Amino acid sequence: MNNDQDKVNKIKRELAKLRQFRNRCYVCHVSWHKRGMTFHHIKYHKNENTHSDFVNGYVGTLQYYEYLKPIIKKNPKRFAYLCNSHHQTVTKLLQFNHDKQDRIFKLVRKSR
Ligand SMILES: [Zn+2]
Repeated sequence: MNNDQDKVNKIKRELAKLRQFRNRCYVCHVSWHKRGMTFHHIKYHKNENTHSDFVNGYVGTLQYYEYLKPIIKKNPKRFAYLCNSHHQTVTKLLQFNHDKQDRIFKLVRKSR
């Protein structure tokens, strides 16, 4: 594993221990996933950087997490800790408006 990636994971594991995150994915409760873990922004603030504002690769990801760390520490309630699999699911569902989300959940609950 690359050194920058190690540093990113160290930051994530440290932040995951904040009370708010209970050291586990909000959805499936795993504490670590082979595909990685991430902090989902429940609410972005105006003028705040996103991951895409940083360069591609581990260097950019490390810079992003160094940027994000104090923001998460200051206000963990603005974030959810998720495995990448469930972060992908949440991100996908966010593409739809509330009515469509409701209909999707209704259908999912009815389906066997
Ligand atoms: Zn999960």
